[in-house]
Amino acid sequence: MSASPALDNTPTAREATKRRTFAIISHPDAGKTTLTEKLLLFGGAIQLAGTVKGRKASRHATSDWMAMEQSRGISVTTSVMQFPYNERIVNLLDTPGHEDFSEDTYRTLTAVDSALMVIDIAKGVEPRTIKLMEVCRLRTTPIFTFINKMDREGRPPLEVLDEIEEVLGITCAPITWPIGMGSQFKGVYHLLEDKVHLYEGSDNEAGGKTVTLDGLDDPRLKEIAGIFYDDLLEEIELVREAGEGFDLEMYRAGELTPVFFGSAVNNFGIRPLLDAFVEWAPAPLPRDTTKREVVPYEEPLSGFVFKIQANMDPQHRDRIAFMRVCSGHYEKGMKMQHLRAGKEIRVNDAITFMANRREAAESAWPGDIIGIHNHGTIAIGDCFSQGEDLQFTGIPNFAPELFQRVVLRDPLKAKALHKGLDQLCEEGATQVFRPINNNDVILGAVGVLQFDVVAERLKNEYGVKATFEPINVHTARWIYGEDREMRRFRDRMDDGVAEDHGGALVYLAPTRVKLQLTEERWPEITFASTREYN
Ligand code: GDP
Repeated sequence: MSASPALDNTPTAREATKRRTFAIISHPDAGKTTLTEKLLLFGGAIQLAGTVKGRKASRHATSDWMAMEQSRGISVTTSVMQFPYNERIVNLLDTPGHEDFSEDTYRTLTAVDSALMVIDIAKGVEPRTIKLMEVCRLRTTPIFTFINKMDREGRPPLEVLDEIEEVLGITCAPITWPIGMGSQFKGVYHLLEDKVHLYEGSDNEAGGKTVTLDGLDDPRLKEIAGIFYDDLLEEIELVREAGEGFDLEMYRAGELTPVFFGSAVNNFGIRPLLDAFVEWAPAPLPRDTTKREVVPYEEPLSGFVFKIQANMDPQHRDRIAFMRVCSGHYEKGMKMQHLRAGKEIRVNDAITFMANRREAAESAWPGDIIGIHNHGTIAIGDCFSQGEDLQFTGIPNFAPELFQRVVLRDPLKAKALHKGLDQLCEEGATQVFRPINNNDVILGAVGVLQFDVVAERLKNEYGVKATFEPINVHTARWIYGEDREMRRFRDRMDDGVAEDHGGALVYLAPTRVKLQLTEERWPEITFASTREYN
């Protein structure tokens, strides 16, 4: 990072340098929740594993739609967990595991500086891993890899690494290497430290009680590995020769991933991962705005909102906006400009997110997330700053893949319906499209459960009974072009053009083929599958 030495020494620079803000990406069931708990345990943030799920459940107990979420065993909300580790402050941004809420996950990935990918040794690369990696690619997010469930029989590690390289297009640099697997899992060999960490099948690592051996010639290793010893030496030799070796620059450029093996549920292999993570993962990175790049060390506070969470109590439309601090620092009672609203606000009651509780934020630094209470005035993508108009870019809206027409059961409630939908759009819970040539209201979602959530919330929070019916829309594309060409397109396309919640024009394609034909027929028009907020 290029900052002058003078800047390097400010409290903001010192605090920023300590921060590591990341998210875990994985296919459901690979072990994200388990690993999250163990990371918190290592960070000393919680005493007992098992708290992560419990925390989710108790926090949401008061609202109906969240009850629905609970009963389905999924988490709609993204939360933030902060814990200290080795002189660093780690911010772990939790993402909903269920694929129906992937938009939330995607947006959370815009607020992190790096990601940790969890892979199940038996399953290898899975569909959702692929999709999430695509999103990480949009911002060349550096990726750590943890290969989990080594205590179970899985696929040969070399085969899984090949698959990662081939399918995800990223070079693997093993840092630890497993010794056996399943019932024969004996531990991991740390290639950089030349040490063997022995697995003893219990929660020993968190207590600092793991037994380590120096090098591969330790007679105890021969004894433990038994008849597999020679194979092990050969494999490690192969990995050393074939492997790329760790390269910090390639990792930071998103081209190479350091790989660690372990068993999250048994608390094993995590310490080497976390030790390396806080060393290598980037501290808060500079961020682009429409005007210029903002460096974290800059003193004025700036940040953007990547997530809105409705409050627990549906009667009060109190919402919490999650803002990622990009530069400067926040202090309780501070004034900042809310750029889209053109207003200055004083923030007295922002919250920070500790591992298992929320508390009033006294201060926050680059890389941290603060929660700002509001009554619907703050939307996803909104930016805050002090004195300068800094509009951060790169917070995408994804083209929905499912569409339904809204049918209002009580016509007198039209106003409440629109208000409710507008607010749900601002929270990112759904996307609304209003065709320019008719009065339809079309909802778009990335996952089918989103429709249920919208119906529930309209009913409970806005007193509106609405149902949804199928509509012949396959996909949506945001359209851009010269005024004349855009006018011609609008005239020609009839019902195919709609405005989104923010007034941007969208082409609603009935089929993939029709989309393709339309794109070919209108070369002057850009069809985009993502749109940035603002
Ligand atoms: P998530 O869906 O990715 O959050 O996955 P979870 O953390 O909920 O884990 C899914 C299942 O895998 C749970 O039953 C875990 O107990 C189990 N699991 C997680 N890590 C391990 C591991 O290291 N070994 C084994 N055998 N099971 C694990």
